[in-house]
Amino acid sequence: MDCLFCSIVAGDIGSRQVYADEHAVAFLDINPWHVGHTLVVPRRHVDDLMGEPEALTEIAPAIAATSRLLVDRLGADGLNLLSSSGAVAGQEVFHLHVHLVPRYAHRPGLRELMVREDGIDLDRVYRQITGE
Ligand code: AMP
Ligand code: ZN
Repeated sequence: MDCLFCSIVAGDIGSRQVYADEHAVAFLDINPWHVGHTLVVPRRHVDDLMGEPEALTEIAPAIAATSRLLVDRLGADGLNLLSSSGAVAGQEVFHLHVHLVPRYAHRPGLRELMVREDGIDLDRVYRQITGE
């Protein structure tokens, strides 16, 4: 199957991976809304939560661990968690993923969630999270 996130999980397409366990992989979103915007995906292909709501349980430990990592390393003041199921909900990549979006005091509120901040240096953010 031709799936972008399956290719990222397999390592055939590069990503800035910040966390991984037996069931899930977490990597920086290539087009971040806020500093540290990360996607958590199951290793196995699942289209979305509507088809398989129980997949969320499988990736829950990775969601929790990645949230903790982002908040601790980036000094975030809050965090949004979002998953879109279906094109009508705004889903663009049809491999289940949860957006983890660290939030900062200078841009508060839900209305600011998807307003992209310009000039985020992904390599710098990656180093800050992983210590590499
Ligand atoms: P959604 O609209 O919920 O399906 O989100 C898809 C997300 O995947 C978007 O936020 C994209 O910026 C992100 N994305 C697309 N391609 C890549 C990639 N190669 N590496 C990391 N994130 C990606
Ligand atoms: Zn996939």
